[in-house]
Amino acid sequence: MSDKKRELSAAMKSKLEPKNFKKNPIIGTKFTIAISSAKGGVGKSTFATNLALALKKIGCNVGLLDADIYGPSIPKMFGIDEKPKSDGQKLEPIVKYDIQCMSIGFLADQQTPMIWRGPMVTSAIKTFTQKVNWKNLDFIIVDMPPGTGDTQLTFSQEIKMDGAIIVSTPQEVALLDVKRGIKMFDKLSVKILGLVDNMSFFKGDDGKNYRIFGEGGVKRTADEFNKDFLGEIPINPAVGQAGDNGKPIVEESPDHEISKIYLRFANKIKATYLED
Ligand code: ADP
Repeated sequence: MSDKKRELSAAMKSKLEPKNFKKNPIIGTKFTIAISSAKGGVGKSTFATNLALALKKIGCNVGLLDADIYGPSIPKMFGIDEKPKSDGQKLEPIVKYDIQCMSIGFLADQQTPMIWRGPMVTSAIKTFTQKVNWKNLDFIIVDMPPGTGDTQLTFSQEIKMDGAIIVSTPQEVALLDVKRGIKMFDKLSVKILGLVDNMSFFKGDDGKNYRIFGEGGVKRTADEFNKDFLGEIPINPAVGQAGDNGKPIVEESPDHEISKIYLRFANKIKATYLED
């Protein structure tokens, strides 16, 4: 390695050292849980919205922060089409299904692309974490953008994050990125609550499970890195339809088999943080 490269690598390393940062909690919130994925399209936002609703159903006060600046999904998945109010100092979250929500999608036209550089993303994240009037929340669920970029770095370095859940499909190509995601959170000292295998299989009319994207890859990755495997969520068209209609499945059909899986995740999280 050349001297210049070595210098650059040392500078990067020190930038990533967690001890160099003072981490602030999100005001008005007890616990901040990030929902992360290495790739787009694996069901991260679907997971974030349904987990938030499942936590609410078991009696928690919940906020949902859409930090996916470049591709916000919460306005569509929660059917919100209004702008948050502001008193000039703070933004009021929009309350839907008893969940306090904030998204860049509430502030910009849905079809306007966010052509933003890193510092602008960092500044938006600071606004959402410090300048939103989050009230009396047990949990704030943060829907992260996919990958390992500026948003993850800003959150991990500046915000007190209490846990991260990594959602993936079982394909090898998604798992490669999951490994990068695990290493990033480990490096930034963010506790990984576990890995979720979404769209694991499709149950056919013949009663058989078809594992379209491969089998067991997410569990194997969790084992390899000594992380918890939280479980599988099958592919079910009702999940997509509910999200597209602005009422996620846990809210629309709380007794659905998929909703029950989310309730199990929610109970586990509640027990980990509020009942220990
Ligand atoms: P991401 O946030 O990772 O980009 P989304 O949550 O937007 O992914 O999900 C991508 C697509 O997959 C959406 O159309 C969503 O409705 C669908 N989807 C997610 N999970 C499931 C599931 N378990 N069964 C069926 N469709 C799903």
